[in-house]
Amino acid sequence: MQVKPPAYTSWYWRKVCQIRDTFDEALQQQLWSGHIGREYSIAKGYEWLREKGDKVQWSGLVWNKWSFPKHSFLVWIYQHGNLNTNAKLFSLGIREDDTCFLCGQDRETLEHLFFACRYSREVLGSTGSHLWNRIPQTNIMGLRLSRRGTKEEKGVINVVINASIYLIWQQRNSCRIDECVLRPSKLVKQLTQDMKIRFSSLIQGNGDGGDYVRKFMAGDECNS
Ligand SMILES: [Zn+2]
Repeated sequence: MQVKPPAYTSWYWRKVCQIRDTFDEALQQQLWSGHIGREYSIAKGYEWLREKGDKVQWSGLVWNKWSFPKHSFLVWIYQHGNLNTNAKLFSLGIREDDTCFLCGQDRETLEHLFFACRYSREVLGSTGSHLWNRIPQTNIMGLRLSRRGTKEEKGVINVVINASIYLIWQQRNSCRIDECVLRPSKLVKQLTQDMKIRFSSLIQGNGDGGDYVRKFMAGDECNS
């Protein structure tokens, strides 16, 4: 049965009807015979319907067992360049000002917000004094690659980077909506507490990662 949704109905309902028509056509032409085998299942239908891109090299750095899922999700959006910075919204004509909320001095691009902004550089500088050798000016990969280490040590660095990006973005939004922002030292304290919880099993162990985390914690105690 064909269902033609009126133009005034919601976007969701029109999309549902469109997908239904897509499956109906595919069923008649057996488009998925090579994909789903003899018996149809929702999982197989979903795999047939969705578009699959190539696996990116950095996916394991973002999605790892130690990072909080909400941190990984935000960094995934960042890696795709899809965070709605002021510079992006300005170029789309949505905002009239492209200035950075945190410093009020430069255009709020991804590069500026996370690496060139004086607020973020202070956070990253205090957070990572034992984790990375230098803070790059432009991108996250420079931070990930700035120090050699064991697999466990690199794992710790990736988790701290993901948490830092998340918390800086959170403060940027707090600045935009509530017009208040934590001091960099307070934010670093919060990040360290989160990491202490996340790495509690590593801290108690004797592996390379445990040493690394203990140094990270010791650095925070010196900074506080
Ligand atoms: Zn700034």
